[in-house]
Amino acid sequence: MLKLIVLGSGSAGNSALVCTGTSRLLIDAGLSATRLIERLALAGVAPESLNGIFITHEHGDHCRGLDLLTKKHPLPILCNARTREVMRDSMKGEKNWHIVPGAGSFEFAGLKMETFPVPHDAAEPVGLVLRHGEAALGILSDVGHITPLMRQKLRALDTLFIEANYDTELLSQDTKRPWSTKQRIQGRHGHLSNEQTAAFIAEMACARLERIVLGHLSRDCNTPDLATAAIRAVLAARELAEVDVHCAAAHEATPWFRVRTRPVPIAVPPPLAVALAREAGPPAPTVAPASAPAWHQMELL
Ligand SMILES: [Zn+2]
Ligand SMILES: [Zn+2]
Repeated sequence: MLKLIVLGSGSAGNSALVCTGTSRLLIDAGLSATRLIERLALAGVAPESLNGIFITHEHGDHCRGLDLLTKKHPLPILCNARTREVMRDSMKGEKNWHIVPGAGSFEFAGLKMETFPVPHDAAEPVGLVLRHGEAALGILSDVGHITPLMRQKLRALDTLFIEANYDTELLSQDTKRPWSTKQRIQGRHGHLSNEQTAAFIAEMACARLERIVLGHLSRDCNTPDLATAAIRAVLAARELAEVDVHCAAAHEATPWFRVRTRPVPIAVPPPLAVALAREAGPPAPTVAPASAPAWHQMELL
């Protein structure tokens, strides 16, 4: 069993928690340590029970609470070497660094994890896929544009947590941000707009996908309604309207999401399948019966 709860997400701070029956991993620690401990408590998790804290990149909205949290609770900090180099200067005391590849697979606390580089203005920012049993969860945030590698790594997931940072119209109308900041946000090493996220989902959504959790919404240049509507529209066009779309908020945690709620289909090995087909007489129809859910067909392919 793999579960996800987003403790908070937005330009002011990002943190999520991934749990299996036996392990608990915090993904980013961008809220203050006090806020992180509060939100963990509301989720029923004591900070000392965490197995570690994975950091995607060193921006303050992803590691603001890390120093104090790990001072109180000396938990392993998982990140790549370049990210550690940048973060180390601003952190006090000894830390329990656990260096992981910026691109590659590894296992931690029973979780199978895969990192891959993403284009963002940080030292070595990464996206992430976590697997446990049959469940697969993708995490993609702080990304300037979609790359072929993302298409390859984020295929066939049960749940995708992805940023939908800004609405293009609202960003262009915004008067608080200087032109240079807007350029940075929209640049190839900035953030994804609702449109970019929707286009990626239109391309990647498959019948296996159960849920999309949207995160990192700009407070001024996006709204949950705009972001959700953009994603729902492309899912409906792909005839995948049943996929759950949820927007994470900055000021409160999401509910717990179970990653992969459907049973694992039993694949029939080829020789047995042939024998069964012979017994059954005429060849099976190539189109599955209407009652068979589409995801089931996908799993057997
Ligand atoms: Zn961020
Ligand atoms: Zn960032």
